[in-house]
This record gives sequence, C-alpha cells and structure tokens, in this order.
Amino acid sequence: MKRVLITGAAGFLGSHLCDRFIKEGYHVIGMDNLITGDLKNIEHLFKLEHFEFYHNDVSKFIHVPGNLDYILHFASPASPIDYLKIPIQTLKVSSLGTHNVLGLALVKNARVLVASTSEVYGDPVVHPQTEDYWGNVNPVGPRGCYDEAKRFMEALTMAYHNAHGLETRIVRIFNTYGPRMRLNDGRVLPAFIGQALRGEDLTMFGDGSQTRSFCYVDDLVEGIYRLLLSDYHLPVNVGNPEEITIKDFGEEILKLTCAKQKLISLPLPKDDPKQRRPDITLARKILNWEPKINRAQGLKITFEYFKTLNKDELNKVEHRKFN
Ligand code: UDP
Repeated sequence: MKRVLITGAAGFLGSHLCDRFIKEGYHVIGMDNLITGDLKNIEHLFKLEHFEFYHNDVSKFIHVPGNLDYILHFASPASPIDYLKIPIQTLKVSSLGTHNVLGLALVKNARVLVASTSEVYGDPVVHPQTEDYWGNVNPVGPRGCYDEAKRFMEALTMAYHNAHGLETRIVRIFNTYGPRMRLNDGRVLPAFIGQALRGEDLTMFGDGSQTRSFCYVDDLVEGIYRLLLSDYHLPVNVGNPEEITIKDFGEEILKLTCAKQKLISLPLPKDDPKQRRPDITLARKILNWEPKINRAQGLKITFEYFKTLNKDELNKVEHRKFN
C-alpha cells in the first residue's frame, strides 16, 4: 500500500485530497496546525484504518515514522483575509515549511508535489497566464507575504530537484471553490453566498470589472492527482479558464440564491489583480486534463453545502481590511 503525507490536511483543498487518496487505496497521513484548517473537514476519516493525523506545525521540524511514497505540501493560509492577519506564518509555511517537507522527502526518497498559486503571476500583464510568464508581483504590498513565499517555494523546490535529483512537482492553482470553503475566509464566493444567506447586500470591491476564473474543487483534485503521477517537474497551471467579471459573478450568486438584495460597491483592496485566467494548454497536453464541471453545476453543489451550516457558523463574519 502506498503512503502519502498531506500537509494542510484539514484545510479546504487538503481535506478533498485526503478523500481522493483514500479512495485510490492509499494510506493517508494528514498534518495540520489547525490555524486556518478545521478538523470538521476530515472528521469522517478518523474512523478509517488507513488514515492518521498529526497536529503539527510544518514550519518547525517534522518527523513521520515509516516510509513515504509521496508528499503533498498544501499547508498555507490562502485567502487575503488570512494572510493579512497572519503574514509571518504565511511566509514561514511556504519557506521554512517547504524546506522541512523537501528535507523529509529526501530522507524518505519520496516524490513531492507543492501547491503553488496563480498569485505568482501577481497583477498579470500577460493574459491569459501561461507558465512561462514570470509575473508582476509587488513584494512589499499586502499580498507580498503570500506571493513571494510561494515564489520562494517554487525556487527551493527546483533547487532540490536540480541539486539532489529529488522528484518534484509544482502545481499553480487558480481560484478554486466548493464545499468546505470557510464561510468567513473573505474570499469572494463564500463572502457573496454568506451575505445572500444572511439577507445582506453583496459587497463588490471596486466597480466589479476585475475578472477571475473559478474551478470546481473536484476538477482541481483530478488535475493535481494526474500531475503527481506524471513525469513533468516544471510548474503546471491547473484551473478553469472560464473567466467572469466579479460583477457578473455577483449577479449569478443573487440569481442562484434567489436573494432580493443588490450588489454594493466598496473600495478595491490594494494590489487586487485586475484579471486572471489560466492558460491550460500545458495541462491539456501533458495530463490530458481539463475541467469537466461548469460554474452552474459547481455553484449549485457549493450553495447546497453552505445551506447546511448552522446560524452560528453563518454569522461568524470577518471583515476584510482594504489596504
Ligand atoms: N471581492 C469582492 N467582494 C468580496 C470579496 C472579494 O468583490 O467580498 C473581489 C476581490 O476584490 C477580487 C475578487 O473578488 O477582485 C476575488 O477575490 P478573492 O479574495 O476571492 O481571491 P483573489 O483572487 O483576489 O485572491
């Protein structure tokens, strides 16, 4: 039986990856310090013989007994509200944490896949974003702690590959959504759905002309799974190229939730990327992968999930700082 370590296992993406690897017949070892993750996301796995969990901070020394075939490094705050609140932990988990993960992989002779992000492209001047674009990142702006940490993570991963011959994979993840997103993480989809459910107006930042491209979580997990098992070590974009303005997205959420409220405009946060859409030519070619679930289908499933949350969860809102 193959053994996989997943850091950030209690988070949105980490928990879906745990499910997938369990389904594929792996022994899954989850690790999380639970700063932004939630045990509720993996509660259903604890009764399984082939799931273990370590409550551990990957930024500190990590040890896992026994052999490991794969490590997926998904520990990191990943929403603007989180990394504005805990910028130092954000920097540490993708720098020191990545170093620990790569060191562990070397000792165990395991293959590592690290979770990078479309944020490495910053506020992109190349559109759609291809993997060979180097990006337009402000290192000292509010997103710098996340963007630069992920860029460093990519550089360190490549260094381990080149210097030690370590088997490495780098996925650049674009905006992803689905069940288990934290309602109060400040990201646009949970923010809008939460507001719709609470009867509040939807807070559109700026004039809503900025674009994003939203990928349903199951599609993303499929792309990551294929990349891990591929023999390609350079970064690969995984995301849904269907692009939409935030204003149109807000209208879609109002329609989906049958909310009577309206969109209101608030100031645009500093360094908010104006456009984002993955070019997935490479993923199509080397992974034979493309998204299968369109926004209408994915949003419906996600809305059903948010409707199951209780009143306390629904009312736990955090407001985003703008600059
Ligand atoms: N946004 C918005 N209202 C909100 C939260 C976000 O209009 O309540 C906008 C935000 O300014 C950005 C886009 O939605 O342009 C996506 O934001 P998110 O935080 O989800 O992720 P990002 O792609 O910016 O990291």
